[in-house]
Amino acid sequence: MDAENKQYMPWICDKCKKELILRKVKARYLEGNFEVELMKCPVCSMVFIEEDLAMGKMLEVEKGLEDK
Ligand SMILES: [Zn+2]
Repeated sequence: MDAENKQYMPWICDKCKKELILRKVKARYLEGNFEVELMKCPVCSMVFIEEDLAMGKMLEVEKGLEDK
């Protein structure tokens, strides 16, 4: 019954209990580097990858690059 509402649920960081924000992050897939927009915690920079986006488990997100 709540299927429609599900899309509007904010993503919350498990650790910080903060709402995730959409940020461009650098990711690596096979041999290529590219930027994708992913939901990211503004506090601990944890990136959440949706299963669609993960393309199996081959997508690696470069963490922490924005922070330096
Ligand atoms: Zn967090």
